[in-house]
Amino acid sequence: MKSEYDYLLVGAGLHNAVFAYIALQRGKRCLVIDRRSHLGGNVYCTETEGIHVHQYGPHIFHTDNKLALLEMQMETFVHGHG
Ligand SMILES: Cc1cc2nc3c(=O)[nH]c(=O)nc-3n(C[C@H](O)[C@H](O)[C@H](O)COP(=O)(O)OP(=O)(O)OC[C@H]3O[C@@H](n4cnc5c(N)ncnc54)[C@H](O)[C@@H]3O)c2cc1C
Repeated sequence: MKSEYDYLLVGAGLHNAVFAYIALQRGKRCLVIDRRSHLGGNVYCTETEGIHVHQYGPHIFHTDNKLALLEMQMETFVHGHG
């Protein structure tokens, strides 16, 4: 029997999100499951009265990768913060 998916990813945190994104770009299909009821793993945020609340503790995005920074700036410019 042929599976509908190429990969089963346990955990919907950043790691598997990046893996799934790259796999999809390469024509692979992933099934992502998580024991929590939301995506994002430990970087999950909720919004309370317009304020982003980091559910599992504060996070700051660090990178020295200029391409990643540029992509984030473009994303914010196109879609805004909320
Ligand atoms: C309080 C705190 C502050 C942090 N601050 C920063 C920061 O400022 N900057 C930074 O770069 N990094 C920070 N980090 C680290 C960052 O959160 C992690 O590096 C990143 O989120 C890890 O992503 P991940 O996908 O590997 O794992 P996680 O985000 O932990 O996601 C794993 C997911 O797998 C699920 N899972 C695990 N086992 C199973 C199972 N058996 N079945 C089903 N689901 C399962 C979990 O429910 C979870 O949703 C911080 C971490 C914490 C806890």
